[in-house]
Amino acid sequence: MDLNQENIQKIVAQVLSEMKGTSGQSAAASAAPAQFEIPKKARVAMLTALRKIEIKEFDIPEITDDEMLVKVEGCGICGTDVHEYKNDPFGLIPVVLGHEGSGVIVKMGKNITMDTTGKPLTVGDRIVTCTIPCGHCDACLNMRDRDNLCENSGIYGLMPEDDHYHFNGWFSDYLVIRKGSTFFKVNDMSLKLRLLIEPAAVVVHAVERAKSTGLLTFNSNVLIQGVGPIGLMLLAVVRTMGVENITVVDGDEKRLQMAKRFGAKYTVNFKNYKDLDEQIRRIKEVTGGRGADFAFQCTGVPSAASNVWKFVKRGGGLAEIGFFVDNGSCTINPHFDICNKEITMVGSWTYKVSDYPITMDFLKRAVGIGLPIEELVTHEFPLDQMNEAMDVNMKQLGIKIAYVAK
Ligand SMILES: [Zn+2]
Ligand SMILES: [Zn+2]
Repeated sequence: MDLNQENIQKIVAQVLSEMKGTSGQSAAASAAPAQFEIPKKARVAMLTALRKIEIKEFDIPEITDDEMLVKVEGCGICGTDVHEYKNDPFGLIPVVLGHEGSGVIVKMGKNITMDTTGKPLTVGDRIVTCTIPCGHCDACLNMRDRDNLCENSGIYGLMPEDDHYHFNGWFSDYLVIRKGSTFFKVNDMSLKLRLLIEPAAVVVHAVERAKSTGLLTFNSNVLIQGVGPIGLMLLAVVRTMGVENITVVDGDEKRLQMAKRFGAKYTVNFKNYKDLDEQIRRIKEVTGGRGADFAFQCTGVPSAASNVWKFVKRGGGLAEIGFFVDNGSCTINPHFDICNKEITMVGSWTYKVSDYPITMDFLKRAVGIGLPIEELVTHEFPLDQMNEAMDVNMKQLGIKIAYVAK
């Protein structure tokens, strides 16, 4: 990376952090490692049955030389958490959920000296966690740099409860970071930005996949279908890349208005069109009569996954990132949608460890160009109100709902 640009980002982040009165920068600046008083016991918010999160208390375990203890400052709620809360598709109950978290290191094993990028690490630093690749599956051994496809990847917040750590999800007071984990120092980012790193990594990875087709370029007509947290974040990434011709499709007027503020040029509320043909007509109208050069499908709705093919131009590209859980199948017409149009399609699955540093740069840059990225965090709840937080999420009353430690 260009060193100048990095410096500029640091300065922008520092100024913003000071303006907003966040504590991240002052912790980074202090010379002596901070001391923290660690209680004997701490709480976790455990999903013990469908739609039932209970507060449980456990002894905080002694950490080994290869582990760290982190005091949780907050954690965003993901669509995946909501699915687990409602239906337990991963069969994890009882489980401490929460994988979009950040916190401050309060205790460190002596073998840990730096984060995954090699930055020196000390007690008092703020971190986020990424995945724990297994190191022995086909993806880990034979597909260089595709660790997102690891068959047994561990992730805090989606682990069986019965492991002896207990503190293994971010919906808790503390988290034990175990050996083999990947984690990043994030002292120069506000808490809200830190809570957005994980979902932002999902879209950064999707954009990297899209770029691999060679069809997503500076002046592409981009279409984003679905502007929930992921779609809005995706919009922010392509805007930050300099793409300007962006059309978004959604059925929620509030989200479409937000998309405008994130730089969408055209918004299409599909509820205002009598059928798909009318929608296609409108999308052609705003894309020079052709259709989108590149489309991102960000909803979890099978019919939307069918429709999006109709919005892409002949020879265009498509990325599917809406189905992190199985919401059913959809129909594609192999003649019209695939052969005749020669659409290049990529799927995108979570993120690679190496997507994290890019993601952090993106978030700082997005703030730097004035995108209201922190406003994506619309609701904050304390640990003992996680059922209420899930409820707000299920009713789609906000965008990103988060647990924030009080
Ligand atoms: Zn997530
Ligand atoms: Zn693996």
